[in-house]
Amino acid sequence: MKITIIAGARPNFIKIAPIIKAINKKQSDGETISFRLVHTGQHYDKNLSDTFFEELNIPHPNANLEVKSGSQAEQTGAIMIAFEKELLQNPCDLVLVVGDVNSTMACAIVAKKMNVKVAHVEAGIRSGDMTMPEEINRIVTDSITDYFFTTSTSASDNLLKNGIESSNIHFVGNVMIDTLYQNLDRIFAPNFWKEFGLETGNYIILTLHRPSNVDEEKSLINLLEGIDEMVGDKKIIFPIHPRTKAILGETNLNLKNILFVEPQGYLNFMYLIKNSFAVITDSGGISEETTVLGIPCFTMRTTTERPETIEIGTNNLVGTSIENLTLEFTKFLQNGLPKKGIPELWDGKASERIIDILLKK
Ligand code: UDP
Repeated sequence: MKITIIAGARPNFIKIAPIIKAINKKQSDGETISFRLVHTGQHYDKNLSDTFFEELNIPHPNANLEVKSGSQAEQTGAIMIAFEKELLQNPCDLVLVVGDVNSTMACAIVAKKMNVKVAHVEAGIRSGDMTMPEEINRIVTDSITDYFFTTSTSASDNLLKNGIESSNIHFVGNVMIDTLYQNLDRIFAPNFWKEFGLETGNYIILTLHRPSNVDEEKSLINLLEGIDEMVGDKKIIFPIHPRTKAILGETNLNLKNILFVEPQGYLNFMYLIKNSFAVITDSGGISEETTVLGIPCFTMRTTTERPETIEIGTNNLVGTSIENLTLEFTKFLQNGLPKKGIPELWDGKASERIIDILLKK
């Protein structure tokens, strides 16, 4: 079986790493399975791309479509045009896409129109929020996917409700958590650990990059000032996403606790998360990692496509206003964390399950 694996953005790199490992293992066991890795170039900053390939031992991509930035349509269109050429020149039995970025949807459409089977890893998750570009990518991708690999039974249920045959839905667990378990003994402190006086439990991690939180400069500044005020004497480490950085530009902010740092490599970032007091974020993936690590997480969104991180895990959906974040954060300071658990099958073996299933197809 020849599989073309698509990766375009930071969370994709983290998700494909264990899948490639699982394929390599099968190859060394004598199975006939091979892969071609296509990087669409959606994320191209060293900090968001190369570092992840190096740290997670992902092989150099066989092709880089180098689409770079653009509007939603420009980027999606550019990926489709380039990937069609790539797939014509390098036919395969299956295109495997992960997550919910533009590369996921664009490559799934191209493959399906060329009568190539599509496998979607992290299928079926839904926020119900059609203002999120990712939600549109999820719905479109799942409408043309052949093999659905899900992280939760609620994701599988969403697909069943959409009329997908149950025999094509495979609840396998979470590949992002495979990567976490495979690298926990490799994580290490970033250079600024000592310089900033960081110690386990004395700082908070902040990440913000969703358009709804960062695209309006005034409300972003209001949010940052509010968070800075809310945390008392805790330091806040803020690895700033390029999108957020571009909005803030050269703005001079008067913040006493927030320390801006570059987007972190995976091994430093996981060290920072694992040792933090709490996390404030609008990321989906991070709420899964904090769930497994038992770190309190405050998600600055009104919806989530990962309900298990709230029902079982440590995630707290607080909305996008500083008032509500402050209210929920204060409650947490008073009462602690109500419950902690790890969702079913988030055991580090999802990638192996995926490859086992694909080999039987
Ligand atoms: N991440 C990282 N360094 C950072 C910020 C995030 O390694 O500075 C990792 C994080 O641990 C998670 C992934 O990137 O595994 C999530 O990416 P992001 O928040 O960009 O995407 P989302 O999950 O929201 O789609």
